[in-house]
Amino acid sequence: MSDSISLSADDQIYTTLNCMNCGETLMGRRDKKFCDDHCRSLYHNVTNAAQYNLIRKTHTLLRRNRRLLLQAIGVFRDQNVIPIYWLMQRGFSFQHCTQRIEQLDDTHIIVCYDIAYQKQGTDIVQIFFWSADSRAA
Ligand SMILES: [Zn+2]
Repeated sequence: MSDSISLSADDQIYTTLNCMNCGETLMGRRDKKFCDDHCRSLYHNVTNAAQYNLIRKTHTLLRRNRRLLLQAIGVFRDQNVIPIYWLMQRGFSFQHCTQRIEQLDDTHIIVCYDIAYQKQGTDIVQIFFWSADSRAA
């Protein structure tokens, strides 16, 4: 890494920072962030794992939402609308979507990949297939 670069006079100013992994006081160049390679890789592994977990959890919720919307279309195919409780009972997450489209009348269309829904009153939603061409407004 950059540790092999020869030091200029400016680089030799000692730092009072702490290792980003273990918190030890760092001695050496002022741009130093870790005690050693062990601390550096430990820090990056933990950071990457946390980010990966967040992404994985979000994908799981979005996949479940899409699956439930698709099921709902099948179950309620003879009706125009679907009760919100049906989605809630099955673990639908209303906080997760891939797109939220504001309408001129202050309502919004919530999109989950290729399926969208729109609240109709407080208890029911209308569900429909969605593509980039679906955008009417
Ligand atoms: Zn350290």
